[in-house]
Amino acid sequence: MQEIRTVGVVGAGTMGHGIAQVSAAHGYDVVLVDVAPQALERGLAHVGKSLEKLESKGKMTREEREAAFARIRPASELTALASVDLVVEAVVERLEVKQSVLAELDRTCAPHTILATNTSSISITKLAAATRRPAQVIGMHFMNPVPLMQLIEVIRGLATSQECYDAVEAAARRMGKTPVEVHDAPGFVSNRVLLPMINEAIFCLYEGVGKPEAIDEVMKLGMNHPMGPLALADLIGLDVCLDILRVLQDGFGDPKYRPCPLLVKMVDAGHLGRKSGRGFYSYDRG
Ligand code: NAD
Repeated sequence: MQEIRTVGVVGAGTMGHGIAQVSAAHGYDVVLVDVAPQALERGLAHVGKSLEKLESKGKMTREEREAAFARIRPASELTALASVDLVVEAVVERLEVKQSVLAELDRTCAPHTILATNTSSISITKLAAATRRPAQVIGMHFMNPVPLMQLIEVIRGLATSQECYDAVEAAARRMGKTPVEVHDAPGFVSNRVLLPMINEAIFCLYEGVGKPEAIDEVMKLGMNHPMGPLALADLIGLDVCLDILRVLQDGFGDPKYRPCPLLVKMVDAGHLGRKSGRGFYSYDRG
């Protein structure tokens, strides 16, 4: 089986920095790339804080924390990923952006490099077709927040090889996660089930059925969800939620996935949830 020793992560946002952290904390040498210097800086700062938290909770020693942080090398160009064994792409949820990043990775990376995408909803088969190595393209869908969540949904495209699947499954386990295999369909399993629920919660707010706190409290106390759907939407990012709903709507052609107009309006206003300091709730950006 192909062994993964080095990991590249593209995009240092909400997901990318978490994927870099978890990979480094489990012994991988990591190259973290973002086109925006501030995003890279912010991402590394988040990793630093998160590792400190783990140390203060006794989950790692000071030496382990320092070693993990030192294993992450920031870079601004995809060429820095030329020789890594596995790249996880975690840029914005837009087909054209992901296709262009994957095509460039395909040109830049060594022939053996596996190209994984952390897409929440876009077809792996379609993304793989942007490269000349579709057998080595796979979905590796981490959950947010990456250091805390156990699942990685692993999605095969039409051409993904068994060797690629096995290597990614082994890497997921080495990262301390549980891989679950699903097939390639819009939203896979996780977001096909989750996003309609979040969208319906936003419709409840839009139609005045309840205040945000009431809607979230009903789902927490009544359904035993650890977090209400509106707070979860803020954590995911309202722009990401909207992008996923649009993929579901286009992919299935079913009006039941129509994004709530309030969600569209909030994204237009730049109220993106935690990452912008304001969504259904307000957040102290410090
Ligand atoms: P984000 O907006 O927080 O971060 C995206 C990062 O990608 C930004 O820092 C941006 O500068 C960078 N970027 C954009 N284009 C780039 C390029 N061409 N090269 C390098 N960097 C580039 O987004 P996110 O929430 O981290 O989502 C990233 C991916 O992960 C999306 O596909 C999303 O659907 C998926 N995802 C998100 C969540 C979630 O809860 N947010 C959960 C699972 C999967």
